[in-house]
Amino acid sequence: MQAWVIGNWKQNPATTKDVNTLLDTLLTTADDTVSNGCQLMVAPSCIHLANVSARLQNTAILTAAQDISALSDSSGAYTGDCSAQQIADAGATWTILGHSERRQYYQESHESLLEKLSHAFTQGLGVVYCIGETQTQYDNQQTFSALDDQLAVIKDLLIKSKEQAPELVQRLAERLIIAYEPVWAIGTGKVPTVMEVEATHQHIKETVASFDTTLPATTVLYGGSVNKDNADSFAASPMIDGALVGGASLKAESFLAIAHAF
Ligand code: PGA
Repeated sequence: MQAWVIGNWKQNPATTKDVNTLLDTLLTTADDTVSNGCQLMVAPSCIHLANVSARLQNTAILTAAQDISALSDSSGAYTGDCSAQQIADAGATWTILGHSERRQYYQESHESLLEKLSHAFTQGLGVVYCIGETQTQYDNQQTFSALDDQLAVIKDLLIKSKEQAPELVQRLAERLIIAYEPVWAIGTGKVPTVMEVEATHQHIKETVASFDTTLPATTVLYGGSVNKDNADSFAASPMIDGALVGGASLKAESFLAIAHAF
């Protein structure tokens, strides 16, 4: 399966100058990584999206947004929001959705994520849908049930699309990536064992397949404190199709080292 390494830049870098410096290094050193067969993607904050997309046009690095509006896929009186159409118009071809920081700080609900996924596929964006259990859920062996609750959005989208917009089922089949990110591993330096990640990825793949047996095998990435030192151990597993990288994606050298591992 194609490997993916995706950089989630979050609210970084702060200035256009620093964004361009990061891009300069990425662009001068990414070529052999890409020819390795690993698909690279970066997700800058919304304000930098048009610049980053323009600079990455005709390169092998894709651009993603970090979120889109739940309220409209195009335009409307929704102060502060960016729609899927605006994101696509800015040159991004993908969006991250459901990141745990959005779930935590913006109380993203099942309903709003269902709308966001639907809007993304309607506007032709691919989706990197993030799921993961909290520390308490992990400690109480509730990881699979927490993930099942979050995966129910995919199930509901499939049901809704089959009734109302069958073309979205095909887009979901072609352009959905799941990122498994334990909340307790994000930005903490703590990581689950490779065996734990493998068991979880297997569960995710089986669960999505159970929603619709015609779907192709789901790409599942691991995210949470991935760095250039631990990337090899995750990359060695056939159950782990790549990585969603936060902090380590802000340095081209460590981001590309992770990409080389996959
Ligand atoms: P991290 O973040 O790599 O800094 O832990 C991952 C993420 O939030 O996607």
